[in-house]
Amino acid sequence: MAAQLRFALTILLLLTLPAHAAQRVIYLTFDDGPLDGTSNILDVLEAEQVPAALFMVGMHAQASASNRALVQRAKKLPLVTIGNHSYSHAYNHYRHFYGDTEGVVADMLRANVVLGLKPFVHARLPGRDVFRLPSISKNDNSLGQAQAGREDPDYEFVAASGFYLYGWDHEWVHEDSGKPVQSVDHLVAEIDHLFSYGHFVKPGKLILLMHDEMFRDAFDGKTNLTNLIDALRQRNYTFGALPGYDG
Ligand SMILES: [Zn+2]
Repeated sequence: MAAQLRFALTILLLLTLPAHAAQRVIYLTFDDGPLDGTSNILDVLEAEQVPAALFMVGMHAQASASNRALVQRAKKLPLVTIGNHSYSHAYNHYRHFYGDTEGVVADMLRANVVLGLKPFVHARLPGRDVFRLPSISKNDNSLGQAQAGREDPDYEFVAASGFYLYGWDHEWVHEDSGKPVQSVDHLVAEIDHLFSYGHFVKPGKLILLMHDEMFRDAFDGKTNLTNLIDALRQRNYTFGALPGYDG
């Protein structure tokens, strides 16, 4: 009996260990493209063969022929998920934008048309860290109760109009110049800390927010992103495709 028990425990351990190791998944997400920086991101994603989601702004996609071409290029990459990040990006006046539910839904649907996306569409609301997924509903912790209550119908109606809404767990912050605030080493240390602390929207899964404009520099942009991917790989993180996040 004792031997059988030991055997059973060994099997249990073997089954548990790989599952635990797999629970360190990072989802790379890039907001506000197509912009200067998007083509560097696509170059790196192609070279490194890692999945990522690009949440794009309809207005930016319409801004020029080269931006339209970037959307088309991104769509051809099998590891890239194109997400909807609204048509107008709320013109960066979020308090004015939210609260007009019909307007918010219309703006999101307009971006679907421009970007050629069909429901269900992976999306991120402009300026809001909000989740509306089949198994998760989370509001933006930075908003006060009154504002969150005022905006809640917007989130619900957008989700009901054929969108999966994703916020984020951590951000690689940047200056107005596009320069990253955290060095790659600093960011990786932050990510290690977050995984040891373990408070994510989904256990073992970290959604990293970045912005396309961070990578616009012809040399540093590609180097920074490549270095981040390499450093995370060396630490045995894996990269997940966002459509599988809520699986
Ligand atoms: Zn944005």
